[in-house]
Amino acid sequence: MSDSKTMHIATENSEIIYTDEFDVIVCGYGGAGGCAALEASRNGANVLILERASDGGGSTALSSCEMYLGGSGGTSLQKACGFEDSTQNMIDYMELAFEDKGDAEKIKFYAENAAQHFEWVKSLGVTYKEAAHLGRIVVPESNESLLYTGNERAYPFSASSKPVPRGHVPSHEGDFGGKIFFDALKKEITSTKINISYDSRVLGLVVDANNAICGVSYKKDNMIQHVKVKKGVILATGGFVMNDEMISNYLPFQSDFAAPYGNPWDKGDGIQIGMLMNANVINMDEAFFGVYFYPPESLTYGIFINSSGNRFVNEDSYGARIGYFCSQQDKQKAYLLIQNEDFSPSIYMDKLPIIAVADTFEELEKEAGFEPNTLSATAKKYNDYVNDGCDEAFRKDPQWLKEICNPPYALIDYSFDAQRSPAYSQETGPLMFTLGGLETLKTGEVLDKNGAIIPKLFAAGRTTAGLPRTGKGYSSGMSVGDATFFGRMAGKSASKK
Ligand SMILES: Cc1cc2nc3c(=O)[nH]c(=O)nc-3n(C[C@H](O)[C@H](O)[C@H](O)COP(=O)(O)OP(=O)(O)OC[C@H]3O[C@@H](n4cnc5c(N)ncnc54)[C@H](O)[C@@H]3O)c2cc1C
Repeated sequence: MSDSKTMHIATENSEIIYTDEFDVIVCGYGGAGGCAALEASRNGANVLILERASDGGGSTALSSCEMYLGGSGGTSLQKACGFEDSTQNMIDYMELAFEDKGDAEKIKFYAENAAQHFEWVKSLGVTYKEAAHLGRIVVPESNESLLYTGNERAYPFSASSKPVPRGHVPSHEGDFGGKIFFDALKKEITSTKINISYDSRVLGLVVDANNAICGVSYKKDNMIQHVKVKKGVILATGGFVMNDEMISNYLPFQSDFAAPYGNPWDKGDGIQIGMLMNANVINMDEAFFGVYFYPPESLTYGIFINSSGNRFVNEDSYGARIGYFCSQQDKQKAYLLIQNEDFSPSIYMDKLPIIAVADTFEELEKEAGFEPNTLSATAKKYNDYVNDGCDEAFRKDPQWLKEICNPPYALIDYSFDAQRSPAYSQETGPLMFTLGGLETLKTGEVLDKNGAIIPKLFAAGRTTAGLPRTGKGYSSGMSVGDATFFGRMAGKSASKK
């Protein structure tokens, strides 16, 4: 049976026997579910977590656990590193990032409370080093905890809000912040009375004759079991990037070139369950995928061109925005033109092929098979912009404007087919996770297709359309920040007295 058809809603009858009863049942023990369970328990609720895997963590534990935080004058980490960040500044940035797809209410609520959320995360015992890495990086390999993880310093964002670093990552050397965060969350949860059932796949809800939620059905030890719920069910089972049927249904364009990025149980179960309760799903055609061609940051001095030899993006943008604009080019063909002195292999994509090397732009163009006067004209025009001190075409920040005039020149193939070719793939090509799901309020309450709240149903994390809404405007940290923050909100709402 396909993943999508496994979920169901059962109506109470004499054959449904409840094995237990809880105030709040949390489906999925990742970032959103763990935080939801903890807040519900702290609010006095008797909580059960049902987790499909044999341990908690989900994609959150796999992640770098960068969280996108700021506002309120600055988080304690931003302040310690000398940065001031007003709530309005953060709102302006996020509103521009998600354009008409953003949820203004969630953005405002998040910006108003993100600095407090950071204190909450720290209170779990997650440690952050009060030092900033201000280079153009994705994840620090050294142990600084504050960094730029989005487009803050790139046009058009730099022109409309003050650039401030908002990426908060647990202090460590190497890339395993998610494990540090989840271990701390789990330790705290273990010290409470929260009940956890592993190897328990939630299959659906139990409703009464009036369609009101009464319980949850799940499969464990090859048996379907039912638990009764008093106050609320929280769906926090992650996104749907591992569900081929849903991906080909909702993201057919991206599925042609992007590869799934997540844990194996990103099957969309929570979204399916919500849909069976007539919940509204939104933003299902949006996903994150990145082209992390840097670091080293000197690669930013190069220019991206498409198969017609034209530029298409300011190269100082964040990897997800670069990825989005690459995806918009004909056949997703994209090449980086770089001069020798600025070239070092990219740390994430060092195997990609250099398709031509030459001493003049004309020779490079010919060797790489471009039409005459395409690549060469673009490179010369770019050099004119550099010499004028203003990139009139794409407004790359003057910091990254450097004349390309010292041969040899090289052309590196960042086309998506090259990135996904088994010869070159290093799992850093256009890796994708989903940004659509159940429509919720900032409280975590799930809305139906008529905009009405579905009683007793809550959701958070990638099961919902949360804070991050587009890859084009995504900053690293917006997903874990959203999942953990709105997970907490769902836990508080579901356990209300
Ligand atoms: C390698 C990697 C690095 C990343 N780095 C970052 C980063 O630094 N910052 C950032 O913001 N984002 C990052 N992301 C994205 C981010 O990690 C996820 O989008 C986010 O953690 C999702 O949180 P969640 O709570 O919604 O889901 P998860 O943390 O995935 O939790 C969902 C849980 O539900 C369980 N589950 C699924 N179905 C069922 C079911 N039917 N019944 C019971 N349980 C079920 C799963 O097993 C899982 O444990 C990264 C992703 C990856 C893969």
